[in-house]
Amino acid sequence: MNCIFCQIIKREKPAKIYCEDKEIIVFSDIFPRALIHLLVCPKTHYLSLMDIPDELLLGLFKKIREMAKELNIEDNFRVLLNNGALSGQIVEHLHFHFMSNAS
Ligand code: 5GP
Ligand code: ZN
Repeated sequence: MNCIFCQIIKREKPAKIYCEDKEIIVFSDIFPRALIHLLVCPKTHYLSLMDIPDELLLGLFKKIREMAKELNIEDNFRVLLNNGALSGQIVEHLHFHFMSNAS
């Protein structure tokens, strides 16, 4: 499959990886639109929020909370999901944008 994010997960393409575990990887957006702009992705390829198992969805949000605590920005971050090409989804591998302009 020709998916950029799967290539990053397999280390076939470089990325600035923030953290990862068995199911989730977080890396910097190549064109950041905030001081902190990370992409939170399941390691398994899913196109849409409609496809992913509930447990994994919970895991992604737990990771987001963990990151907010680690970065000390619990009260100053945004989460964005473009779901579907019509909404602006360009990369067809489900991902949440995690953004903050906290310095
Ligand atoms: P989408 O519009 O699909 O929600 O967002 C895709 C995001 O992926 C964009 O913010 C874009 O800058 C980022 N992106 C696209 N190609 C790459 C890449 O090769 N590496 C990284 N790290 N981010 C990418
Ligand atoms: Zn993929």
